[in-house]
Amino acid sequence: MAKRSLGYVELNWECPNCQAKNQGMQKTCKQCGAPQPAEVAFQLDKDARKIEDDAKLAQAAAGADFHCPFCGTRNAASSKVCSQCGGDIAEGKRRSSGAKVAESQYTHCPKCGNKNPTTAPQCAACGTSLTANNNMAAPPPPTSNPIPTSGFRPWMALPVVAFLLLACSLIWFLFFRSTSMPATVSQTHWSRSIAVEALVDVQKEAWRDEVPAGGQIQSCQTKYRTTSDTPGQNSKEVCTTEIVDQGNGTGEVVETCQYEIYDDRCTYTIQDWAEVDVFRASGEGNNAVWPMVSIGANQREGNARENYEVVFSTQDGEKTYTTQDFSYFQNFSPGSQWMISVNTFGGIVDITQ
Ligand SMILES: [Zn+2]
Ligand SMILES: [Zn+2]
Ligand SMILES: [Zn+2]
Repeated sequence: MAKRSLGYVELNWECPNCQAKNQGMQKTCKQCGAPQPAEVAFQLDKDARKIEDDAKLAQAAAGADFHCPFCGTRNAASSKVCSQCGGDIAEGKRRSSGAKVAESQYTHCPKCGNKNPTTAPQCAACGTSLTANNNMAAPPPPTSNPIPTSGFRPWMALPVVAFLLLACSLIWFLFFRSTSMPATVSQTHWSRSIAVEALVDVQKEAWRDEVPAGGQIQSCQTKYRTTSDTPGQNSKEVCTTEIVDQGNGTGEVVETCQYEIYDDRCTYTIQDWAEVDVFRASGEGNNAVWPMVSIGANQREGNARENYEVVFSTQDGEKTYTTQDFSYFQNFSPGSQWMISVNTFGGIVDITQ
């Protein structure tokens, strides 16, 4: 981000002794003569004016002032001895600087340079349109917006975590506590399917320059895409000025400009493979077969799916086991004898011969 200095403005300070308002570069109160204490901060007046005087500008750029270690008087960064008491100020405390005194956001008119609010549709001075495009979508929120803080604190999650741990261990226990019992295969059932896919038009959305080859653009809308340091084909300049406390009664006006880039967001249709039909086969016993599939023009075979069920009869009633493994399924011929382990929910968790 390119930062640019637009010069300096004079700040002010309020005397804690008599409440008089003093010009920032004034080091002792004009009304009662008390020196400005180190902890009394500078403020910005609405009508603060830019410093034009060369001598004042040199002071503004010289850095933060020092407070005399003996009498507390503010002295310029370049002084060696206190202007008030003559003491050596080498040991003095430097005023803090760098704080942001004020911030404002605006956009420059591309024609006349007038500063307009970022929300203004046209320049207040010359009427030039300031929007990147007439039907553009809402710009992103300015970065200077405070981030809302919720009332959430990490410790508030503790009871929830404890509850989840308890619930997990209970489920674990129920799943893995099992009873073993003899079982006989009473029936077996298989089902298999093969999908058929065809090229169909599907609707998708992308930036114009990212629409893939073959995509048919339906309609586009100008939308905010990104923020850049350089202007683009369809961009809107957004500038921020900050007034930065120099610690010497002045504030540097620092401008940062960026560009909101707007672009065409388009809906388009493109041909893509999609499931249009499913052929199925199913039956009893262990000899499963795949369904016959007929494929049309511009079609192809899609996913193949298989599912096998083994029904056991036990002293506890019927228990069903499901698998997708055909070679394993073939072991369970009707009438064969097994030992099965059943968990609390009735699910078969283990099978042995
Ligand atoms: Zn005073
Ligand atoms: Zn002094
Ligand atoms: Zn203008």
